[in-house]
Amino acid sequence: MSSRLGPKPRLGYTNSRIERAAELRIDGSAIAALAKHPGAGTYVVGGEWIVAKKGSPLGEPLFTLAEAQRLGPAVETIFLGLLGDAPRFGHGLSPQSAEALKNRGDLLVTDLRSIAVQGLVAADDLPPIAEAKAVLHWHARHRFCPNCGAATQLVCGGWRRDCPNCKAEHFPRTDPVVIMLAVDGERCLLGRSPRFVPTMWSCLAGYVEPGESIEDAVHRETQEEAGITCGRVVYFASQPWPFPTSLMIGCHAEALTHEIVVDREELEDARWFSKGEIETMLTRKHPQGLTTPPPVAIAHHIIRAWVEDEVRFE
Ligand SMILES: [Zn+2]
Repeated sequence: MSSRLGPKPRLGYTNSRIERAAELRIDGSAIAALAKHPGAGTYVVGGEWIVAKKGSPLGEPLFTLAEAQRLGPAVETIFLGLLGDAPRFGHGLSPQSAEALKNRGDLLVTDLRSIAVQGLVAADDLPPIAEAKAVLHWHARHRFCPNCGAATQLVCGGWRRDCPNCKAEHFPRTDPVVIMLAVDGERCLLGRSPRFVPTMWSCLAGYVEPGESIEDAVHRETQEEAGITCGRVVYFASQPWPFPTSLMIGCHAEALTHEIVVDREELEDARWFSKGEIETMLTRKHPQGLTTPPPVAIAHHIIRAWVEDEVRFE
């Protein structure tokens, strides 16, 4: 079956080549020195907008620090880590100044989903862009201390904000989301969000709530959205999902019940799919043009693994 589906594609935003070099973050003078390194480069992000130099066939999202400065002053600058000995930074523009760069003929200014799905930059650039976008988004939303309300300050190369008033330290957060394929023998459960393109079906997903395990979240979300009770849960893989700061935790779940009750507030529809039908969706040969999400998303890999590999609940 693997030969029919072709080689396994790379999961987007994962396998970063950047070493985060967390030990350097606390040393402001070390980071200042790194910024002067001849190989230093920075990714330019303004809210949902990613800025790249137009190129053929791929755009170039890495700028020198001087080039980035000429695009506009940074609201925040963060240290992403090292590629070899070359430092990598994130240059955070305001969303308005990033959007204004759309008028420039030499620049590509677009959203990260389009960049990832259409492959507009090299795959190795996606993880550091995701890192920069997620952390810069957190800074934009944490300018004031949630404890006392005073203005906070970026420290540690962007990996902490400190409150000068109450001395609280705040760390960039990531939000866990379970994304699961409920399996009933030779059938699996997919749903459609009203936000999807009309032909796309995907795994169910939802945020893990405080005080909840991954397994509990899989059970609750599958029950809430589709009325299906699940038993055993098997972890598959995870993916950072910088929209804005999620961590997708991919699982397969054993369905114990069969009758679907769709939560119409959350989903447009949900139904069972056979392995044969899923295979036509993965290969874009479905007679009604139905598709799975693209390979950049973990849902594609969770679904494909069920078709291609044996998923065991033990
Ligand atoms: Zn405070």
